[in-house]
Amino acid sequence: MTAERTEKTGVSAAQTEIRTYRGRRFESSSAVEVRVSGGKIVSVETLDDAGTACGVGVCDADGCDGLPTIAPGLFDIQVNGAVGVELSSAGLTEDGVVAVLEKMLRDGVFRCCPTLTTNAPETMISAAARIASALEKRPDLRPTVWGLHLEGPFISTAEGAVGAHPKRFCVPYSRELFDRIQDACGGLVKLVTLSPEYEGAGEFVRFLRSRGVVVAVGHTNATCAQIDEAVSAGATLSTHLSNATRHLLPKWENYFFGQLADDRLTASLIVDGFHISPQLVRAIVRTKGLDRIVLISDQSPLSGFAPGRYKTELCELEIQPNGKVTLAGDANLLACASFPVSHCVANVASIEGLTLAQVYPSATTVPARLLGAPLFSNVDAISDDATLCKNGEKTSGVQNVGAAANVDWLEVGADADFLLFRLVPATFGPLGVLDGASFRTGRFDFERIVWRGREIV
Ligand SMILES: [Zn+2]
Repeated sequence: MTAERTEKTGVSAAQTEIRTYRGRRFESSSAVEVRVSGGKIVSVETLDDAGTACGVGVCDADGCDGLPTIAPGLFDIQVNGAVGVELSSAGLTEDGVVAVLEKMLRDGVFRCCPTLTTNAPETMISAAARIASALEKRPDLRPTVWGLHLEGPFISTAEGAVGAHPKRFCVPYSRELFDRIQDACGGLVKLVTLSPEYEGAGEFVRFLRSRGVVVAVGHTNATCAQIDEAVSAGATLSTHLSNATRHLLPKWENYFFGQLADDRLTASLIVDGFHISPQLVRAIVRTKGLDRIVLISDQSPLSGFAPGRYKTELCELEIQPNGKVTLAGDANLLACASFPVSHCVANVASIEGLTLAQVYPSATTVPARLLGAPLFSNVDAISDDATLCKNGEKTSGVQNVGAAANVDWLEVGADADFLLFRLVPATFGPLGVLDGASFRTGRFDFERIVWRGREIV
């Protein structure tokens, strides 16, 4: 493109520059060349099927020299903070919100639910307002937020169930408090995690559903009957199933089994290598089926920092060399999560020997369907024929959960949103044995992160 022509058409050189990317589609492994101009995909060409496949299983330790995997951006429905910023905080600033969302883009997360954990009512209200005003100031980042997730304050105060949430701010249901938070952010709240152990759980779930909010069960000490009441009223998700749980549970009936056995509940899981054992991941994934698993990072303000000790408002925490975040001086006391959701995708693939085509929907299309969001950030509407299960059958095992939805996320004319990465082994996570071999964790090694045509990495 000559300067003369650029001048005549009034189109800047940056907009007309054409960039080319090559990778293997995550869902089919077919090699493609994608050309991007002006932030949009201008052509997608299938290449000869030569070269080494990458992204179907984990590459060898010395890497693989084939094409990287090309895949859509991830959707993480539980992000509490990052890079030193706690979202549920009285001191939250607009710059802090922007820093968290930019970290998400660098993690390959193109859509997320900023999550407000239990705090004082005024703090949750002001934080919700701050997130909304940050998005008004930075409309370019608006597409990265699907909606807010309120993880509290309507949760249990019981030992284990309450987790790291401050007990003094956990309260029974209040429509008035919900409305105040929702009004403060202009209706951004799309997901509420609550415990159905208080009087009127079914009624409150129906109220939230009538406001267009998806309801999750979590941080709970509820009976199976109370869980059933909430689910019958419209709750559809278990938040980080198996975490925020007492160490010892009654063996016949308890809130873990009550949620695990209910087919109406999808389960979110923090498969970072520390929050849940590989054995339990396998058991939950096989019980629910991957079409009812949502992978989340649950990442905290310490996410993005190097190993070392850090002071927080409440206590001193330590990031161990393997990435585990613990209370300072106690390598066994898990404090919060720090890995991006891509690690969870890689770990589930590793645990079950699955392909990315099988696992990827749990961090893209499954959460999108659950929250009524577009399936991919560059596809505007949910397609009716999009299906996660082969032949549309309901599945309970992993083997029948097929390729991702038949929506073309690499469509000519769509926003250029995609990731190019290699799935490589990693050394973090618990040392354990599964099927007679050492459990191996994995991670995404990003080569390019292209969002709205912009190279983030
Ligand atoms: Zn939690």
